[in-house]
Amino acid sequence: MACVSYPYEAPVSQTLFERAAAVTPGGVNSPVRAFRAVGGTPRFMVSGTGPYLTDADGREYVDLVCSWGPMILGHSRPEVIAAVQEAVSRGTSFGTPGEGEVALAEEMVDRVGPLEQVRLVSSGTEATMSAIRLARGFTGRSKVVKFAGCYHGHVDSLLAAAGSGVATFALPDTPGVTGAQAGDTIVLPYNDLNAVRAAFAAHPGEIACVITEASPGNMGVVPPLPGFNQGLKDIAAENGALFISDEVMTGFRTSKAGWYGIDGVVPDLMTFGKVMGGGFPAAAFGGRADVMACLAPAGPVYQAGTLSGNPVATAAGLAQLRLLDNAAYDVVNAVSEQIQGLVTEALTKEGVAHTLQNASNMFSVFFTETSDTPVRNYEDAKAQESFRFNAFFHSMLSQGVYLPPSSFESWFVSTAHDERAVQRIADALPAAARAAAEATAA
Ligand SMILES: *Cc1c(COP(=O)(O)O)cnc(C)c1O
Repeated sequence: MACVSYPYEAPVSQTLFERAAAVTPGGVNSPVRAFRAVGGTPRFMVSGTGPYLTDADGREYVDLVCSWGPMILGHSRPEVIAAVQEAVSRGTSFGTPGEGEVALAEEMVDRVGPLEQVRLVSSGTEATMSAIRLARGFTGRSKVVKFAGCYHGHVDSLLAAAGSGVATFALPDTPGVTGAQAGDTIVLPYNDLNAVRAAFAAHPGEIACVITEASPGNMGVVPPLPGFNQGLKDIAAENGALFISDEVMTGFRTSKAGWYGIDGVVPDLMTFGKVMGGGFPAAAFGGRADVMACLAPAGPVYQAGTLSGNPVATAAGLAQLRLLDNAAYDVVNAVSEQIQGLVTEALTKEGVAHTLQNASNMFSVFFTETSDTPVRNYEDAKAQESFRFNAFFHSMLSQGVYLPPSSFESWFVSTAHDERAVQRIADALPAAARAAAEATAA
């Protein structure tokens, strides 16, 4: 663990964390929230407005996590809250079809060309798990190709060399996943098409699908090299396998049509979550109509969910998507660029070697040994000096800026990050850059 001093206390959060730890493993319901990578006490948040979060100790933070991406309009956006209140007033779950889920599916299909049909689920994990099952059912094959550092939720077979929390904790693999499940997963280095060709050559007729993050954000932001996604699609097609683009993070975040709207590569199946739920548990998978036709009740591949298409979640998601026109993305992209510039400036001024990478408005900073060393895959990402990030993180936190508590995560901004919020980030950066410069590995 790095030598990081925690500049101030958070007594109410600390008390809540102790209560939580008594009844919940590690005190959290999703591992990265526990601050184990950066150390210190996780902040228990009580409210959010626009670009700000307020914690249980009454401190306000500029939020650069945005609930890990979903809150692209900021917190408590009035139109989204109103849509939720209207939906709630009519009841919260019916276990029947409803118009809201049709409208949300139509909105998604309208935006994303390759999306002919969608099935709604409640989490990104369910979406990727179901897409993999469907790909296996459709092709009659069992093996799955994934890339090291890509995170697709905590699906058993996809936890091999996953990013996000798995990267944060450097877990080599996960107990509880059987050899059979892991054995059907082929893990390859990201951005390496030759490795993909070699895998297909080694397993002829056995690979059901290639799944990739459309543009990875779970090992830090590591965009695909030009031609990589198209290459995946082509190699998969030549070998009778499906290409699944996981847009849970990038979908409706990086553009109106997600990463597809940027690189135009047509996947067979896509997965969504985060932004499309408007801060509620709504996610989806979809794509080619002939593949989706294999899903129950239209076809034999079973998939279901008690709360799938929940009327409150779909109302929130639809209200959010309807506000996300091109002008909204221009705002998010501009503020993201501005913050990226400020971070680069502050770190450069203090002589801190770093590489800042972005994929549209998603970005992250790698404290690489030398500046501007491209980070192209998980090996590169793991070579960063994470102890510098930890010092940087705590300095920012103490000055009221909430960053993702891990150097393997994207930073997220929203349309609500206005001049005042950006100024607070700018004011905090010099001291944080100094802390990064002075940090030493323990
Ligand atoms: C967040 C994420 C998931 C998992 O979504 P959950 O809703 O947390 O289950 C899957 N894939 C990607 C790319 C993600 O970023």
